[in-house]
Amino acid sequence: MKHNFSSITIPEILEVGIDTIKNAGKYLVKANIKKMVVFYGEGMKDMFGMDFINSVNQESTLDIIKEFVNEDININAIIANAFDIPKETQVIVGIGGGKVLDVAKYVAFLNNILFISIPTSTSHDGFASSGCSLYINNKRTSVSARMPYGIIVDIGIIKRSPERFVFSGIGDIISKITAVRDWKFEEENKKTKVNDFAVMIAKKSVNSIARMPFNDIKEDFFLKELVDSLTMSGIAMEMAGNSAPASGSEHLISHALDQILDKNELHGIQVGIATYIMSLVQQHRHVRVDTFLRDTGFWDYVKTLNLQKDCFIEAIDLAPSIKPTRYTYIHLDENRKKAKDYIHHDPVLNMILN
Ligand SMILES: [Zn+2]
Repeated sequence: MKHNFSSITIPEILEVGIDTIKNAGKYLVKANIKKMVVFYGEGMKDMFGMDFINSVNQESTLDIIKEFVNEDININAIIANAFDIPKETQVIVGIGGGKVLDVAKYVAFLNNILFISIPTSTSHDGFASSGCSLYINNKRTSVSARMPYGIIVDIGIIKRSPERFVFSGIGDIISKITAVRDWKFEEENKKTKVNDFAVMIAKKSVNSIARMPFNDIKEDFFLKELVDSLTMSGIAMEMAGNSAPASGSEHLISHALDQILDKNELHGIQVGIATYIMSLVQQHRHVRVDTFLRDTGFWDYVKTLNLQKDCFIEAIDLAPSIKPTRYTYIHLDENRKKAKDYIHHDPVLNMILN
């Protein structure tokens, strides 16, 4: 019997720090890139595009051959756009929030060329993962593409993004606690086999930030740690070959909320609340989850949103049907009942939900 080692694709460029966008040209040259197409989110070229373009213009070998402003995550629009990419293009660069990064990532994937991710906010781990969230037949659908070839994060830019995006990143990273527990639970019930390395990386990604002392969520050190942790979460999914290490029952509740709410909240906001609910159900590190979400100001922010208990109760009932082939805690009737009891009786949930 032959035994094979696992191998994974990891980004060639990983630059996280202050003023990285002003040095982006140098990183691209180092990675042997020459001709690129750039996708901007709405308003992003005016805000951050010039720093990027100037850094490219300083390098004689680099060439921006076409630019687009497009954050339309409808698959039909993306396919149409994919035919507008010049043949000589080596990489697609995406600059902006989650939507334009998903568009650029998928256009690159369809053209079988490389993708460079330059997020201007880090509201979830999508900037560092192979997955995209697109509209297919009017339904928000998770599809897989390919890992970014480069990830360039300018902490100065992240600092300027609205605070709610940072809270969303906080909610998305804390979810690794319940996601990994769900994945292990599936293995204990002989429904899947976990990848131990992916488990370790996913756990480290959340523990390093959840145990770190900080004064302010907008301080450089905290933001750098958040970006690094979200990046590690993306790598954990790559190791697993699926989203399980980063996405469990808490993500299913959030996906259900997307279908229930007229206007959904940011991904990581919904996920963070659902993480706390599921950590109670799992009886797994719920004190840590609560402490982290309280100390970062996440709960105070959630209190301002006027979210309704009824919506969460509906989402809990709907959650298992989002991914019927999985077997997380929320797939068991008794656990859905527990989750709903907590929504009615837990003091923290009573404080943040109406
Ligand atoms: Zn997520």
